[in-house]
Amino acid sequence: MRSTALFLAVLIGVLLPATDAQAAQTATVVSPKRPLNVRAGSAVWTPQLRTLAHGSSVTIVCQVRGQRIDQGTVRVTDLWDRLGDGTYVSDAWIRRAQDVPLCEATATAAPASVAGTVASGGTPLKARSAPAHGAALIGAFANGTALTLACQVRGENITGAVRTTPMWNRLPSGAYVSDAYVRRGATPPPCAAAPPAAAPVAAAPAAAPPAATGRWVSPLPGFTARPGFRTPSNPKHLGVDIMSFTGTPIRAASAGTVVAVVCNIEAGYSCDRPGGASVGGCGWYVKLQHAGRVATLYCHMVRRPIVRPGQKVAAGQIIGYVGSSGNSSAPHLHFEVHLNAPPTGPYNAVDPLPFMRAHGAPID
Ligand SMILES: [Zn+2]
Repeated sequence: MRSTALFLAVLIGVLLPATDAQAAQTATVVSPKRPLNVRAGSAVWTPQLRTLAHGSSVTIVCQVRGQRIDQGTVRVTDLWDRLGDGTYVSDAWIRRAQDVPLCEATATAAPASVAGTVASGGTPLKARSAPAHGAALIGAFANGTALTLACQVRGENITGAVRTTPMWNRLPSGAYVSDAYVRRGATPPPCAAAPPAAAPVAAAPAAAPPAATGRWVSPLPGFTARPGFRTPSNPKHLGVDIMSFTGTPIRAASAGTVVAVVCNIEAGYSCDRPGGASVGGCGWYVKLQHAGRVATLYCHMVRRPIVRPGQKVAAGQIIGYVGSSGNSSAPHLHFEVHLNAPPTGPYNAVDPLPFMRAHGAPID
């Protein structure tokens, strides 16, 4: 991830014309409660690369459209600021003196990207993790919203207000919108095999994923997760921790199928006893596969989970109980969300906090 950012920084350094370098401006992070996340793309589900403290000074090169952020300190906006090293921060948290040009107007944007406009009538156009209506919902754009269409892939055939087509547009954030609802002048180029930047949601499956995404609920109702996904001090932490009490029921965050029930622990230790800070492994854990190629993981259970591989579970169904098995110093649930699963790995873990908020089940 760091090498990607470095590569982008070098690339932008090469491509950036002098005029845009002159247009770059210095601005200030306004985020007094918690550090501002710096991301690989223009949405909160793209990888977090680092953080910026309140009051930090940043250099903004240009802006791209992405996920609308309405809980910032400075403004409500779908604009994200591209920084000098090719990373992004939401403009909702940035105080600046002047307007910033859109990146499309500069040579740093994908050269062949095309401007488009959402033409969906009254309903907002859904942005998905893959080119199919059953893929995970990761945002929505109101009718009339201006879009930057990076490229197109073939996916599910959709009949919309503009045309009937199997083509889906990939946005700079890595999300997909059906071309059936997009008015545009030119046709975006086909997407290359490799996704842009490090967006984890960009690997499009050839076939349409299974049906609807369904309802999401907190895996531990009444308890709150603390931010902790890939923090600077723990960059390998792929989920968030929800502190609780031994024996509290853990619930499936959405309907799905149990794909793993595992005791994952360092040799010589037992998952049936509390582990410790120096013990390796996530203890007794369950992995669920959901519609839309989303998978969730639940670690450190107190004893063998009460579900079996292959079993179907409903949203909110109890799958096991809180414990402290494995690499854990107090009873808690370690909760992970992976996109484009299977498989799951560090490459497709996303921060569960914005994901759960976006799916109507905030856990923070
Ligand atoms: Zn954890």
